[in-house]
Amino acid sequence: MQESELIVRRIKEGTVIDHVDGGKGLKVLDALGIDGKDGSLITIALNVPSGKYKKKDIIKVENRFLKDDDTNKLAVIAPSATVNIIKDYKLVEKRRVSLPNEIERIFRCSNPDCVTNSSEHIESVMDVIDKDGRVLRCRYCNRLLDVNQLKYR
Ligand SMILES: [Zn+2]
Repeated sequence: MQESELIVRRIKEGTVIDHVDGGKGLKVLDALGIDGKDGSLITIALNVPSGKYKKKDIIKVENRFLKDDDTNKLAVIAPSATVNIIKDYKLVEKRRVSLPNEIERIFRCSNPDCVTNSSEHIESVMDVIDKDGRVLRCRYCNRLLDVNQLKYR
């Protein structure tokens, strides 16, 4: 077992998000709404050495399995992350995150005049037009959006 795996304790049931880019871990927690208020055990390791020059963050959340929405958020914030689903201490599923072609609901359009920011309660829909550059476009007002500057709904 590698040293980095020993830093955080094993979990019985839940999700391990590994290979989060160093420094993005707290942002991932925020985006996924993981705050520990439900009492489940959360362990997070920041800046774990990974390879010769890189650092990564690792997040372990007990009793929670990521949904599609969560995986989409993760793909936007930490595209190199891997999601490991643990059941009865065993790794039952390992998946890489990938950016979908469209992202619904997650982000708020940065255009204050956009209909999705009005009182009409219209959910945002954004097309991913550049997966490498992570550029989105609002389907309602056509504004180009940099995911690093977007706020969550
Ligand atoms: Zn818009």
